[in-house]
Amino acid sequence: MNSKTVIVGGGFAGRQACRALRKTDTEILLFDPRNTTVMLPALPDLAGGWLDERFLFQSLDTLLPPTVRHIRKTVTSIDLDTKTLTAGDETVAFDTLLIAAGSVTDFHGFDQHRDRMYHLDSLETARHIRDDFGSYLLQNTAPHVVMAGGGYTGLELAASLFYRAQASGKPCRVTVIDPGKEILPFLPEEKRSYIKRFLEGTGITVFPETRVTGFDGKNVTTGDQTFENVFFCWAGGSTFAVPEIKGCVERLRDGRLKVNPDLSLPNYPDVFAAGDSAAFEQNGQMLRKAINFAWYEGKCAGKNIARRLRGEQTKPFRPFDAGWVIPLHSDSVGQLFSRIWIRGKPGLRLHYFMCGFRNTCFANFAGFARIAAKLFKKEGPL
Ligand SMILES: Cc1cc2nc3c(=O)[nH]c(=O)nc-3n(C[C@H](O)[C@H](O)[C@H](O)COP(=O)(O)OP(=O)(O)OC[C@H]3O[C@@H](n4cnc5c(N)ncnc54)[C@H](O)[C@@H]3O)c2cc1C
Repeated sequence: MNSKTVIVGGGFAGRQACRALRKTDTEILLFDPRNTTVMLPALPDLAGGWLDERFLFQSLDTLLPPTVRHIRKTVTSIDLDTKTLTAGDETVAFDTLLIAAGSVTDFHGFDQHRDRMYHLDSLETARHIRDDFGSYLLQNTAPHVVMAGGGYTGLELAASLFYRAQASGKPCRVTVIDPGKEILPFLPEEKRSYIKRFLEGTGITVFPETRVTGFDGKNVTTGDQTFENVFFCWAGGSTFAVPEIKGCVERLRDGRLKVNPDLSLPNYPDVFAAGDSAAFEQNGQMLRKAINFAWYEGKCAGKNIARRLRGEQTKPFRPFDAGWVIPLHSDSVGQLFSRIWIRGKPGLRLHYFMCGFRNTCFANFAGFARIAAKLFKKEGPL
């Protein structure tokens, strides 16, 4: 072996890259502090206690090709000019690099009593919500969830907790606060109205053009209003997962690295990015953060690294948008192949089927296939 390839992140993109590189003559190091995969789209359901957490993960090391060395460390800094990265007290040099570290919750600098607020970007944070929400419901006579952020994560979590409270016999007020004029602004008006009607029908209230200005560990303030004794969740967006990138790179506001058509970084032909770490432009628009794109970008980046190592021309990434679904526990809105709209139970079934399909073992697939067939019972967990 005469070269070293480092992959940062063993999520959907990183794992596909490892597979694509398995037959190359390069030393492959994968940096990821976790030793499990995580089916992130099912986190809102786990947080609401609706499904068995075993369906969401599998040991990462059992999925990696034997030629990959997994180093369970978090990368804190990448220096593109010196071709080194830092993980803990270690500095590692690389010849080629794939950045596929996903994203983490963006608190936008809001750090008042962060230890008392909940967020949702990992298995651990979902378990934390599930366990604490149960006790919160038991201890409070007038429970109230306040969700900062009306994007898909905020709304999915709001719906999951709303129905959990109802199923526990402790109906709960749920308020979603969002600084934008509209929730889900990328949706056409008709579809947004459908979601609004669903939320109003259940009793989930949305306050648009409102910001959380204070949190004292129990009470949330939004300028002129205070909500007392709430279960406060932050779902205000996501940001880049590696704290520091040194080098001449162009980035989006959420930290994503702009990439060339072959997923390499401009100015750095030996450095690639994929999944939530990459900002890939198609027809003048950035691809959204989604599993499908992460999966195929990881595969394409891995193949291009292999081509680069063999001295061959790299190939451009050609994304195919199969669609998306926003699952809201008992309803949904989605779009297939950029043209067919879908909603209600068919959308939910498709979402859970895809969670199984993009999973890593038959048992997990079977678990999600069962959910897709039966959906959730109102009374409680499966
Ligand atoms: C609540 C929620 C719901 C979602 N719902 C959907 C959905 O319905 N459909 C859909 O398509 N997408 C959905 N997404 C988005 C989707 O999950 C992501 O786009 C996808 O997981 C990105 O894949 P990735 O490989 O880039 O990152 P990930 O799959 O997140 O993997 C990143 C890996 O990098 C590791 N890592 C992080 N930081 C570091 C570091 N500094 N050093 C080393 N390793 C690091 C992590 O441990 C992780 O294993 C959802 C996301 C969330 C959070």
